[in-house]
Amino acid sequence: RRFNDYPLSEEIVRALEGLGYKEPTEVQDKVIPIALEGKDIAVKSRTGSGKTAAFGIPICEWVQWEENKPQALVLTPTRELALQVNEDMTNIGRFKRIKSAAVFGKEPFSKQAAQLKQKTHIVVGTPGRVLDHIGRGTIDLEQIRYFVIDEADEMLNMGFIEQVEKIIQALPKDRTTLLFSATLPKDVEKLCHKYMNDPVDIEI
Ligand code: AMP
Repeated sequence: RRFNDYPLSEEIVRALEGLGYKEPTEVQDKVIPIALEGKDIAVKSRTGSGKTAAFGIPICEWVQWEENKPQALVLTPTRELALQVNEDMTNIGRFKRIKSAAVFGKEPFSKQAAQLKQKTHIVVGTPGRVLDHIGRGTIDLEQIRYFVIDEADEMLNMGFIEQVEKIIQALPKDRTTLLFSATLPKDVEKLCHKYMNDPVDIEI
């Protein structure tokens, strides 16, 4: 399998070459073609499997540069992961000049709010801070079409379930939802059931 086999634009394939990604990993090969069709997917796979690019590639492919409002929202359990995902999105989307912003606690709210006022295609953040931005009207969710819950099991272990549910309720219904988790405990499955549209199950 090669990235060229998927219906990806030249800008994305070129960025992947630049990153030294020669071929898709297993999770990427399973997720990318289905995600590109806009289907909801629940993925059980470990960190280190290349899961970030598994959602990063389809999201960067989908993003329309001309649209100024955020089109994708990625929730992560930690600030470190938010920064990592933000960097990966920027790298994958570099030849489309995709703008990704990371929002997380312990950093001035105003700095992030100022960034969100600029053109932002993708927002990556931790649940508490994302919810703050929603509450204070500094993030516009109207054009969100793609929503990712990364490390869902960790997120729920850390007690973020209520925040995650509140965020989901603020999102447009017409969207693609992708969930990634190393394990699928009952509460993660419940989340899939409640908020995803007939998800395809993928296990690596
Ligand atoms: P992740 O599971 O997303 O944390 O990715 C683990 C590591 O694999 C990261 O350092 C990625 O940059 C790298 N990676 C992701 N996809 C590929 C690929 N197709 N080929 C080579 N390395 C990759």
